[in-house]
Amino acid sequence: MNTKLDTKKLNAEFEHKTPTEIIAWAVREFSPAIAVSSSFGTTSAVLLHMAARVKPDIKILFLETGFHFQKTLEFKEALTKQLALNVVDLRSVLPREEFKKTYGNLYERNPDACCRMNKVEPLQIALSGLKAWITSIRRGQTEHRRDVDFVEEYEGGIYKINPLATWDSKQMWEYLKQHGLPHHPLFEEGYSSIGCEPCTRPITLGEDERAGRWAGSQKTECGIHTFMKKQPKCENPKTS
Ligand code: SF4
Repeated sequence: MNTKLDTKKLNAEFEHKTPTEIIAWAVREFSPAIAVSSSFGTTSAVLLHMAARVKPDIKILFLETGFHFQKTLEFKEALTKQLALNVVDLRSVLPREEFKKTYGNLYERNPDACCRMNKVEPLQIALSGLKAWITSIRRGQTEHRRDVDFVEEYEGGIYKINPLATWDSKQMWEYLKQHGLPHHPLFEEGYSSIGCEPCTRPITLGEDERAGRWAGSQKTECGIHTFMKKQPKCENPKTS
């Protein structure tokens, strides 16, 4: 039996809750069918630290595209050890070498297709066994993310939980400092938002924090936050 949630009411309540309280609610509501996704990017340690404190063995999904910076993989390894994280690497169905042999530098010719095969499809498979997915997306990051809610229902009945929806960059850095957590080492080299190496450049003063992703193209999202159809906010739901 599936229970539909009153997302309208929950989102109103969560305006007054801390991200950790929202994560704790989600873990109570959906465990064990819940996971966190992480890119092990600049301030990823914030959500990882919060989630691991609530549920130390919660699954952390990492999209191992094969195109990451070496420093990202080293940061991931160090943070996994420091926080004793339960990380699960998600990979394309096509083995890495075969992908490169077949498609070459697909990210140059068709980044949407490259993201679909290396990010969206592996995530879709992982999410098919879950009821909830915790992300670190924030309203202030991009135009597309401006309206994200704390709890969102998607087609197929999966809920996306965005506990940091209202946090700004300053709050993220303060949390890292307060808890003695590390940031991605490439931040010192001007990288603000860090994804795959071929599609990420450092930003310059005054640019948005995600301006270095797929720079020079219209692409602003890899697709993992756009491939599912969001359902309208639900009020006074019935159990089905
Ligand atoms: S970010 Fe770039 S390299 Fe990574 S999956 Fe997308 S297009 Fe490919």
